[in-house]
Amino acid sequence: MKKEIKRLPDDHLAEAKKMVMRYRKKKSCNKCYDRGFVGITEDNMIIPCGHCIDNEGVFKEWKEYVNARADLKELYGDSLEDEKPTQAPQK
Ligand SMILES: [Zn+2]
Repeated sequence: MKKEIKRLPDDHLAEAKKMVMRYRKKKSCNKCYDRGFVGITEDNMIIPCGHCIDNEGVFKEWKEYVNARADLKELYGDSLEDEKPTQAPQK
């Protein structure tokens, strides 16, 4: 049996792409070719570029974006609750 994947609807993917662009720290980047993301996961989420994007900032805004939309909250709400931004400085 195939595992069911929660796929992000395409129009939200388009919004996510615009969102990362607002968190760019550099003008030109040869890791993502200025797209702001390096790939798309199998559940249709973008992978923000670690080189030129403020990942923490974009994650925070994405969380708010999801929380503001009932359909997305149903899909991702649970995973966002306990998940912390990856590789947060430990101290
Ligand atoms: Zn980049």
